[in-house]
Parts: sequence; C-alpha cells; structure tokens
Amino acid sequence: MADRLGAYRAKRDFDATAEPSGRRFVVQEHHARRLHWDLRLEHGGVLVSFALPRGIPAHPAENRLAVHTEDHPLEYLEFEGEIPKGEYGAGTMSVWDRGTFEAEKFRDDEVIATFHGERLRGRYALFRTRDDDWLIHRMDPPEDPGYEPMPDRIKPMLARSGDLPRDEDAYGFEVKWDGIRTVLFSDHGHLSLQGRNFSDFTPRYPEVRELARELGARRVVLDGEVVAFDDEGRPSFERLQSRMHLASDSAVRRRMRDTPVTYVIFDLLYLDGRSTMSLRYEDRRQVLEALELEGLGWRTPAYHRGEGSALLRATRELGIEGIVAKRLDCPYEPGKRVSGWIKVKNVCLQDVVIGGWTPGEGARSRHLGALAAGVMEDGRLVYAGKVGTGFTESTLAMLTKELEPLRRADSPFDGRQPPKGTIFVEPRLVASIEFREWTKSGTLRAPSFKGLRPDKDPQDCVREGG
Ligand code: MN
Repeated sequence: MADRLGAYRAKRDFDATAEPSGRRFVVQEHHARRLHWDLRLEHGGVLVSFALPRGIPAHPAENRLAVHTEDHPLEYLEFEGEIPKGEYGAGTMSVWDRGTFEAEKFRDDEVIATFHGERLRGRYALFRTRDDDWLIHRMDPPEDPGYEPMPDRIKPMLARSGDLPRDEDAYGFEVKWDGIRTVLFSDHGHLSLQGRNFSDFTPRYPEVRELARELGARRVVLDGEVVAFDDEGRPSFERLQSRMHLASDSAVRRRMRDTPVTYVIFDLLYLDGRSTMSLRYEDRRQVLEALELEGLGWRTPAYHRGEGSALLRATRELGIEGIVAKRLDCPYEPGKRVSGWIKVKNVCLQDVVIGGWTPGEGARSRHLGALAAGVMEDGRLVYAGKVGTGFTESTLAMLTKELEPLRRADSPFDGRQPPKGTIFVEPRLVASIEFREWTKSGTLRAPSFKGLRPDKDPQDCVREGG
C-alpha cells in the first residue's frame, strides 16, 4: 500500500496543481526603503504575501509583526534582483529561503502551517490582529535547543567608585566616557536605544541608528555610552547637553550637524540567539571586537589589560574624567552595582579666591550655603561659580567666623556676577577646591571645598588646567 501511494505521488505534479499538501513558499530579503522579509505562500493559484519587518521568529517567545500585503503571481517564487527606483517596492530582493509547507488551516484571518525550508523550518501560526496587521508566532520549540530569545529591555550594570585595584593584572581598563549610558538593541535591521531607566533615546541620535544597516539581519544587544567630543577629542558632557532635550526630529537633524555624537561601545550582551552575559568580561570583549563595529557614528575602543596606572595618568593629562577597571573574569549582571567594575576618577585641583557667600537653607541656615569663588585674570577677579559641597559642621563654623568680618557692600567680581542674594566679602581668603572640569563659560563643574589656603596670596590664584 505504501509503495502504491509512493508511485502515485511520483506521478502527480504537486507544484502544477497546487495540492493541499506540499505547497511552495518563498521568503525574500527585501532591501527597500526599510529592510524587511517577504513571506509568500502558494494558495489558490497566487502567492499570499506578508511583509515581516523583523524577519522570521526563531523562538515561541518572539512574536513578530507580519503585514498582509497584496497577492503576488507565482513567478515571484523565483524572483531575485533589482526593483527599479520609482517602482513599488524599489530596492534589491534576494531569496532568503524557499521550500514547501503543509497548511492545517488557511483562512482569511489565520494560517497554521509547517514549513520545510533550509532556514524556515517548523510549525508556525499567522493570525490577524487588526486590519492588515498580523502576528507570526513559532509554535514549535526553537530549532536550536540552546536558542535564547532576544531581550527587549536590559538595565545596564554599574560600577562602584574606588581607587585603582592593586592587582592590575586581573583587570581590563577602559576610558570612562562622560556621556549617556545607552543599551543598543538591533534585530534584523531594527535598532533601538534605551537609557538607564528604559527611556527610549532612539529618535534622538539618528547618526547611531545607521549602525542597524551594518548589523543587517544580526540580532545584537550592546552596552555603551553616547558621547559628544570637544574640539580636542575629549568627551564633553557639556556639549552633549545640547543634544539631550530636543523636541522635534528637525531640531535633532539641525543640531546633529554642529554637534554630532558617537556611540562608544564597550560590552556585548546578546548575539544571534545567545545571551553573552554569563561570559567573562575578556571573553565578551573578544566576541565584541570580532564584530569590528567601527563607523562614523559608532566605535569600539580597545581596552587595556593590566595597565591601569598608565591609562589613568594618560587620561589625567588629557583632561578626561577617569577610567573604569573591569575584572577580566567578571560576568555581566544587569542592573547591579558590582565590585568587579570600579570607576577611578581623576580630579582637578584649583585654588580660588572667596568673594562672597550665600546663606544656607534648612539645617544650614545659620551658616553659609555656598561660597562664591573666583580666579584672577589679568589682575581682575573673575567669578568661577558656587562651591556648595565638601563642608563639615566645623569647617562651616570656621568659614562663617572668618568671612563675617570681611563683609562689604559691593561685589569684588569684575564682569559676570554671582546669583542675587550673595553676601560679598573682601577677596582675601583662598580656598582649595576639587572639581571635575571647567565649563566653556569658565565655571567650575562639580566643585567641592577641600580647605582654606592661608599660605596662598589671592593674586596668585590663576586658572590651572582641567
Ligand atoms: Mn517587499
């Protein structure tokens, strides 16, 4: 009986008569305005067609959009090539897979079929959700038993603050990029940028979105920092701020020209069906570097093994914020602040002239709240910002006692003035200040009081590096 059926099958031309079993399908990769995949199923003498922006899901947990498009003629089973500009679907089309399928169900709003292709294999459901929008769902377990679905949100791992580790050989060292921490997801040419609290930065940085084209059909999750560089090539958080709060796409496009950003990539969290987060840092870096992600809007700077002191010194000379030490054997733990990652900051020191003070608020109302600091420039005292941290109860009491007798009515600052409500003093006291950098407008960023410098003459307080 089995034999006779085999002979019968051999005689029948299933392709020609579109028999219910063993109908043909094709999946075309279509590089049109937007990259997508066209799934076409032979049915009733035509090809019932769906456009899949994110391709064929490999895992039951990855339901994907399938947009029902118009039926195509059977010739499309073989079609590959260029669709000319101006024509519908202009772009390049290539066959991603073809084969046969058996449909258990083929209705206007639901198709259940088992595919036998080279790449598309297994049982799938397609069902309509709204108008032409359908979902495609894999019903079988993944073909590859180790396949892990791609996550769609990850909280980045954080570093602790600290000093350089003693055993530098156990660590890799990276420059600390002063930008916005951003996790990048790219799946079949669809890219999204996610901030620390899952905020969506995707529309904000179009120059990074271009990376999706380079990654193509790969499925990748990266960790990195969106950075704006200054004219000397140093990361500048100040410059980046002009890109952070733009309301419209056109404003983004305009600002992109004078203040471009770069996505600086330093970790790989997922690649093509596998989470890489349990790998050691040095192994993740090896896989990441093999991807060779270097472009106009993104790059993957090398890390430095066991050379922390040297890198810290180099960043200090360049005026960069600091470095991050990462244990070579450290896995990636999303959302955690771990001791395997240590941020080591460079600080700058500056002696400033105290030209006034503002009263404190709340518990500190009896003392000063902040010092009005200045530096000497061509014999003039120039305002350099408020210093409101670094005090203890006793330094506050001491400063109040020192400053009270120096009160004067008018401002000792020449040019730019401190905020209203500042109580001015004779510019006689010098304070040592720790700070991060000078802003473009000549203000100390993140300044902190270290102590008074009675040994120093106010006239000698000129601006130092940083
Ligand atoms: Mn298409």
